[in-house]
Amino acid sequence: MLGSGDHPKEECGVLGVYAPDREAARLAFFGLFALQHRGQESAGIAVANGHRVRMHKDMGLVSHVFNEDVLRVMDGDMAIGHTRYSTTGASVLRNAQPVFCQSLVGDIAVAHNGNLINTRELRAELEDEGEVFDSSSDSEIIARLVVRNIQHGPEEAVKTAMRRLRGAYSCTVLTPKTLIGFRDPHGIRPLVVGRLEHGGAVIASETCAFGPLDAQFERELAPGEMVIVGHDGIRYAQGAPSPRPAMCLFEFIYFARPDSQMYGRLLYSVRERMGENLASEYPIDADIVVPVPDSGIPAALGYSRRSGIPYREGMTKSRYIHRTFIQPDQPMRELGVRMKLTPLVEHIQGKRIILVDDSIVRATTTTQIVKLMFEAGAKEVHVRITAPPITHPCFYGIDMASRGELAAARMTVKEIERHLGATSLGYLSIDGAVQATGRDRDHFCLACFNGDYPIAVPSDVEARRSEKRQDVGQLAAVASAQRSLFDE
Ligand code: SF4
Repeated sequence: MLGSGDHPKEECGVLGVYAPDREAARLAFFGLFALQHRGQESAGIAVANGHRVRMHKDMGLVSHVFNEDVLRVMDGDMAIGHTRYSTTGASVLRNAQPVFCQSLVGDIAVAHNGNLINTRELRAELEDEGEVFDSSSDSEIIARLVVRNIQHGPEEAVKTAMRRLRGAYSCTVLTPKTLIGFRDPHGIRPLVVGRLEHGGAVIASETCAFGPLDAQFERELAPGEMVIVGHDGIRYAQGAPSPRPAMCLFEFIYFARPDSQMYGRLLYSVRERMGENLASEYPIDADIVVPVPDSGIPAALGYSRRSGIPYREGMTKSRYIHRTFIQPDQPMRELGVRMKLTPLVEHIQGKRIILVDDSIVRATTTTQIVKLMFEAGAKEVHVRITAPPITHPCFYGIDMASRGELAAARMTVKEIERHLGATSLGYLSIDGAVQATGRDRDHFCLACFNGDYPIAVPSDVEARRSEKRQDVGQLAAVASAQRSLFDE
């Protein structure tokens, strides 16, 4: 995963742990490590000991936010955790998660991955009824809806909240004695359940969180379903009816870790198959297949296997620079790509290369990589992309761009090819991407590829999203200017 400013970004990872007679916060800490790719701006853990809920959260990576001193005092056998990437003006501590709410009948904490689309009406309604919000995050709306009904018990409180929420949400909720995970009626963002070896349960955005905790995968939570974990065991219940599943196809293409499983398949294998399908759809005579590290690797292997053209690494990626978006001006962005990727000239020189990557959003990064390959002596650069052209923005928890910024919304494939300076360009079709998952189209959200939004998006939402993106860009520019190029 290049993780650049030109790649879509997952907004959050969520976790829940119930570990009888063990320190749940410590397990949550290790689980969050595995979910770090889903958000790097803030991290938090809330822990419950049967009487109360306590929380620690801060800006930064999981390893920066938590240390032995913090974890030592977080006693309790239930915990939830969160890693966050912010998109909304709000890379600030008050928007970090979990969200904590106090009530007369007990405290709750909520961790949320996704995006609500009826935020404005819910917030106005709750404010009219006297709620005072601490943050601008839609996750606080979920927390406040739950806490308003907590006197009926956590399960009923969550069900009542689910009836009001519209949009994408995979959440974990913690009360002093109960841990709940729940997923929106379309199951847009993932949520899985595992069992700990010596009793207890783990709820996580992805199965990759189970490995460090020695947890066994039990199953994916179904759309609209909830899992209720208490000292008396684990139960499942339908929190809201599901009209149809619409899981995010992008999780399969790029966001989720390749060692995670979704819809019962290892994502590394799914991505290899996408590469095979790409080779069938866009064959070309060339000397080597080169991945853009790291996310392009499985698809490049698949392309190579299907085409019979040798796989060869064409560049190395620095492990220590996480961003290319350092300064908002173009020369600095180019420097960012060059700091991150170094061409292996001996592999590339004089070769016709097939360059495999996962997605093109604005086309800025891919343009730089193509340039880098030609400068290193490539004779031809044929770009092959496993995500179909992204023509519409996401409103369900992925930060990609507003519609006007999307390359495929502004240009034809031929125009993008020229813009990239590539010898040729081929995108995997929607059917080719879906086929690789082993499910059919009816199981997916494909909105950013075809504009067919499974949950209707109110007309004012895109306008507000664009405004927020501009605010974020300005904030990011200020924050970046204050940071050394080599900080990360
Ligand atoms: S619009 Fe695209 S990125 Fe967003 S949930 Fe749907 S498939 Fe995923």
